[in-house]
Amino acid sequence: MHFCLTQDPDTWESIPAMNYCSECGAPVILKVPLGDNLPRYVCGRCHAIHYQNPKMVVGCIPEQGHEILLCRRAIDPRYGLWTLPAGFMENGETTAAAAAREAQEEANAQVDIGCLFSLFNLPHINQVYLIFHGRLLNADYAAGTESLEVRLFRETDIPWDQLAFPAIQHTLQHYYEDRRNGKLSFHMGDITAPMPAAGR
Ligand SMILES: [Zn+2]
Repeated sequence: MHFCLTQDPDTWESIPAMNYCSECGAPVILKVPLGDNLPRYVCGRCHAIHYQNPKMVVGCIPEQGHEILLCRRAIDPRYGLWTLPAGFMENGETTAAAAAREAQEEANAQVDIGCLFSLFNLPHINQVYLIFHGRLLNADYAAGTESLEVRLFRETDIPWDQLAFPAIQHTLQHYYEDRRNGKLSFHMGDITAPMPAAGR
């Protein structure tokens, strides 16, 4: 099999590192396969091409009246900061099922997942955030293993300077703008730079 190398390794920064082939265990090298236009990890022994694609981070805004449920992270990154229940989608599940599962795992919360509220592309870290509306079905929520605490917040109590991720910050800003305007709509955007570090 024939390959050519690209001339600009700077464009490879967003490719997550990979050392060994998951098919046969041999070392892999980063190359642009013939007929392709992006560098891929390619096995030097079995020639498997390991394609990498963005990950979906799926979550919801669990609503109960005028309050929403936030989780304070018990894990890195952003340990100790607040976020909506959200996490990586698993193979074999739907986006709505992923959002419900994350609410269950992080907040032991039973949530009826509604319409999609926001979509944010984060190309610099190869992620796409999808956040749904969610209706909190009861008050039996409690911190899951990945949360230090979970609690309901009114808009005036949202810890804006203690939010873990820019996609969550933007989602909540749009959410409260929409509520003030009396019309909830879908929001899509791109986040291309990391948020300045928040205090812990
Ligand atoms: Zn291999």
